[in-house]
Amino acid sequence: MNQQKTLTLSDVISKMKSVSPDDIALITKAHDFAMDAHKDLKRFSGEPYFVHLIGTAYNLAELGMGPITVAAGFLHDSIEDVPVPAETIQREFGSEILFLVEGVTKLGKIRYKGSERHNESLRKLFIATSQDIRVLIIKLADRLHNIGTLQFVRPEKQVRIATETLQIYAPIAYRLGIRKLSRQLEDLSFPYVYPEEYRKVKDLLKEKKNETEKSLSKFQKNLHKELAKNDYRDVSIQYRIKGLFSLWWKLQKKGNDIEKIYDINAVRVIVPTVADCYQVLGLVHTVWRPLPGRIKDYIAFPKPNGYRSIYTTIFVGDGTIVEIQIKTKEMYEEGEYGIASHISYKEGGHSKSKTNFHWIQQLLSRIPITTKDQPQSSTVTPKWIKDLVEYQKHNLDNDSYQHNLQGDYLKERIFVFTPRGDVVDLPIDSTPIDFAYTIHSDIGNHTVGAKINGKYSTLSEKLKNGEIVEIESRKNGKPNIKWLDFVKTTIAQRHIRNYFELPARPSKKSKSPKKAKLKRKIIQIKTIIFIFLYFFM
Ligand code: MN
Repeated sequence: MNQQKTLTLSDVISKMKSVSPDDIALITKAHDFAMDAHKDLKRFSGEPYFVHLIGTAYNLAELGMGPITVAAGFLHDSIEDVPVPAETIQREFGSEILFLVEGVTKLGKIRYKGSERHNESLRKLFIATSQDIRVLIIKLADRLHNIGTLQFVRPEKQVRIATETLQIYAPIAYRLGIRKLSRQLEDLSFPYVYPEEYRKVKDLLKEKKNETEKSLSKFQKNLHKELAKNDYRDVSIQYRIKGLFSLWWKLQKKGNDIEKIYDINAVRVIVPTVADCYQVLGLVHTVWRPLPGRIKDYIAFPKPNGYRSIYTTIFVGDGTIVEIQIKTKEMYEEGEYGIASHISYKEGGHSKSKTNFHWIQQLLSRIPITTKDQPQSSTVTPKWIKDLVEYQKHNLDNDSYQHNLQGDYLKERIFVFTPRGDVVDLPIDSTPIDFAYTIHSDIGNHTVGAKINGKYSTLSEKLKNGEIVEIESRKNGKPNIKWLDFVKTTIAQRHIRNYFELPARPSKKSKSPKKAKLKRKIIQIKTIIFIFLYFFM
């Protein structure tokens, strides 16, 4: 995305799809507000801080995001950096934009610590705490701008930010199917994290490019001609060179032999319909000879992540080979923008947007669901996901279900880490004692001390999202009856009561069986969604 040229409001608006006058008014207001609020701040580059805000908003527009998200992109640093009071944003822009801005601010507080085991947990944590996928997308757009202007930051910080981007942000973008963003993040971080490898791969690619450029441009012309001869006029042909980072990655897998990598050059042919895809494939094969074993039909058999396209690799003469990817426009958009291409749902102030969990529904709807007619994909869709999607189809109008899914389930939970990097999910305000009993009752029963982020803490300290908790236990350690005053989890309460042989706490007034059943069902669904978050990562 464009980092060189000075961006203007009209650049942002012209990148957006179908904007109404109301949308333009909103974006303009956010633009002016952000420019004024940050007027005294500067970037490391010496440029006004606002450059970063308009850069982020532009990235969001390019991802196809709606006016609310683009406006939130302008405002995303205003609570943290200026600071503008939350009430002001609420009053000027409403609660949905405030929700997004606060979400991005909170996400910024999750710290990257660097161990491999920790990283996987951190990715889960990011996804789980975002609540609304738009928060995560703003964070990614923000990172894309920062990584594009990294040359102005001091060297140690460059390496830290670029490593974090490679290990956390790019994989998240990839798993959300926003492959375009994932590639950009990787290629921009690559030179800072692996400078030598970067130079090598760059030289290698340059050499290869010089070799093949002529025959590829000739091929492109010929392909155009062939398609036109057969009355394919509504076709777009794009040429792409493999990203440096993914080339490096693949080189390592192929014994550093660039001749074994067939998708360095790829030509995308974008056609109107699925039938056209197969016809164009036939046409290409009648003119150019395909490489055996390289024809892949991801339309009939989509990849587990839902990706669809037809691939073939052909000889175009002079020994040059090129991969051809044939797809419809819809497949292309979905392949490049993933979940972002699905959430251009009506943003724009008329209806109250369904924020929480709506994105999980979006995500679920992208997973191919097995029916009896398509037994082939049965291995990729676990039964419980199918059940959940089925359940959703039948219950989308059910108010209580919607209400409960949009409720504050995730807001009532915190995620903390073990020293080895595993995530432990606890109710809000949990303490090291709750943590200890959640790990194992034996650890709980012998706890004598705790460290949070490496520093000693009291056992009643309230834990916060993202903290690393370490429990000190000793053989002769035993529970203290005062722990009952502050523990939050039932598991801790139960074990402490057992130890002191206290009766179990009297259960609260029992509810009507019907209500209890509904409640059980809701808890079930919430659990499934939780498991889904972990499964998906
Ligand atoms: Mn920012």
